[in-house]
Amino acid sequence: MTNESQTEAEELRREPPELDPEMLARREAALRHVRKFGDPVLKSRAAQVDLFDEPLRAEIDRMGLLMDDAVGVGLAANQVGLLRRFFVYRVDEDGPIQALVNPLITWTSEQEETFEEGCLSLPGVVVEVTRPAQVRVTAQDRFGEPVELEAGGLEARVIQHELDHLDGVLIIDRTTRGQRREAMRSLRELGAGF
Ligand code: ZN
Repeated sequence: MTNESQTEAEELRREPPELDPEMLARREAALRHVRKFGDPVLKSRAAQVDLFDEPLRAEIDRMGLLMDDAVGVGLAANQVGLLRRFFVYRVDEDGPIQALVNPLITWTSEQEETFEEGCLSLPGVVVEVTRPAQVRVTAQDRFGEPVELEAGGLEARVIQHELDHLDGVLIIDRTTRGQRREAMRSLRELGAGF
């Protein structure tokens, strides 16, 4: 984590990409719009979305662009200061950006997996998090149409990570006491506002 290419920006487990100076600048600009640890909005529960209007869709598009610029694989509304239950994600670099509104996990596999996760809101922090390997989710799309999906691998992990954000839960709440302590120390060294 000392090397610049392995920046704080990495959300979850995507390999640190080789970024040219222009992309780095764009990422830094994007990250300024992402709420960081210490902001109470990250510890708050987001509210149900009832109105599927143009402003909602515009916000989803804006967050998708922000996530792309920040080189993240997911971004929850809390992370841009909105306490509303939706997030965007993209696990396949060439695939479309997905948006899930009012997501609900309806089933999780008994099998769990432990992987390192990072978070755009926790610069420099990478901790191990254990989660169910597969999930089934119901949600709504940007028009309010019902969506149902089953996910495994990175997609299952991203969905659970982003859904946690909507409940005010962060990766440091889900890791071991030792890793949490270490993460808090590194956040403090980076001058996070708390
Ligand atoms: Zn996150």
